[in-house]
Amino acid sequence: MPITRILIANRGEIALRIHRAAHEMGIETVAVHSTADSDAMHVRLADHAICIGPPPAKDSYLNIAAIISAAEISGADAIHPGYGFLSENAKFAEIVEAHGITWIGPKPEHIRAMGDKVEAKRTAGALGLPLVPGSDGAIRDPKEAAKIAEKIGYPVIIKAASGGGGKGMKVCASPDQLETLMAQAGTEAKANFGDDTVYLEKYLGDPRHIEFQVFGDGNGNAIHLGERDCSLQRRHQKILEEAPSPVLTPEERDRMGGIVAKAMADMGYRGAGTIEFLWENGEFYFIEMNTRLQVEHPVTEAITGVDLVREQIRIADGKPLSVQQHELEFKGHAIECRINAEDPWTFAPSPGRITAYHAAGGMNVRVDSGLYAGYSIPPFYDSMIAKLIVSGRTREGCIMRLKRALEEMVIDGIKTTIPLHKTLLDQPDILNGDYSIKWLEEWLDKRED
Ligand code: ADP
Repeated sequence: MPITRILIANRGEIALRIHRAAHEMGIETVAVHSTADSDAMHVRLADHAICIGPPPAKDSYLNIAAIISAAEISGADAIHPGYGFLSENAKFAEIVEAHGITWIGPKPEHIRAMGDKVEAKRTAGALGLPLVPGSDGAIRDPKEAAKIAEKIGYPVIIKAASGGGGKGMKVCASPDQLETLMAQAGTEAKANFGDDTVYLEKYLGDPRHIEFQVFGDGNGNAIHLGERDCSLQRRHQKILEEAPSPVLTPEERDRMGGIVAKAMADMGYRGAGTIEFLWENGEFYFIEMNTRLQVEHPVTEAITGVDLVREQIRIADGKPLSVQQHELEFKGHAIECRINAEDPWTFAPSPGRITAYHAAGGMNVRVDSGLYAGYSIPPFYDSMIAKLIVSGRTREGCIMRLKRALEEMVIDGIKTTIPLHKTLLDQPDILNGDYSIKWLEEWLDKRED
């Protein structure tokens, strides 16, 4: 039975993004929302809307029983989880499928395998992906950790096996700090993820973050859709993303893309995924795989012309991949700015009422956002309120267009990170594509001095 009605288990710009893809395919949508989101744009546009609980995410967007009930009541035959919330919850995926509802996502066993980073590294290594040197699995004993750290060389990074969003990570520069930092990482991991398992990796000095978009049909066919460079980060959170990476040659893209696509084919991977690497001195090092759609997926859409959400829905519906690897062409350049409701320099959250709103327009400009004038941004959720994505034939042209588009954007009534993006686009290193994952924090520190 083809999918006819999708329940969108998310909020904000991504809920709207999924609604748009569904409607373009002639599929109805069901919005679920907390009491804080009754006025949200995706709730207004969806064919059906069901309130699933109070503002705290644990009582609404993470409330599995309420979401499944909403699907049953509304007659939804599929669920799209978006990103964040329940998107990488293997148990949720299993429950959805057990209710005879189509899960628009990877096979639960693959979500589970990649959700544990220790297990993910092991799987990636077995599939032939290059790894960051580090502990062979989880590590509990500080003495054992000291031995491994000595062997791989300081600095090392202690990471939470269930980590995400940059939490539970500690960089350790010397042996005398190792035991304390391991304990701290474990405590932070337990508090955030309910699991204190940590592992050890070599801390790379000045890498870039380069990730590959992949798609599998679940039957052993898989493609890659090129890379995204997400090196511009603050506290391990991405701020701006671009495709292609300014440092990768077409040969390197084909080689690494070929390796990841083969790994996904061998796994029998289904749906969208992202394989994240650190890249230093021409070498790739696998760090993790995300078994879901990413925030930054539109830059890939801009250079490939493939609608990734449509592709996810097609595959969940049992259809084959809509493009073959040899048919894919990477055209031009695309950049995405994440616009957050935050002070642009202190990053303090700035929720509140939008008094005026105007989205940038023009050729090759895309704004993904649920904002409108009069809308009140609730204080309960992620601060990202809009994504501005522009594309062009060249990177230089793309940057000029992005500057022009940022000038046009009006979001009044709250503080946003638009001034930060404008300033970034005047920096010679950014214009030259010469930045690593450390660049933004170092630059922000210098500005403060
Ligand atoms: P999360 O799931 O919390 O996002 P990741 O493993 O994807 O964690 O890492 C997030 C970011 O942390 C990376 O993009 C990079 O900036 C930094 N990082 C992670 N591992 C290393 C490492 N071995 N060396 C240097 N930086 C790292």
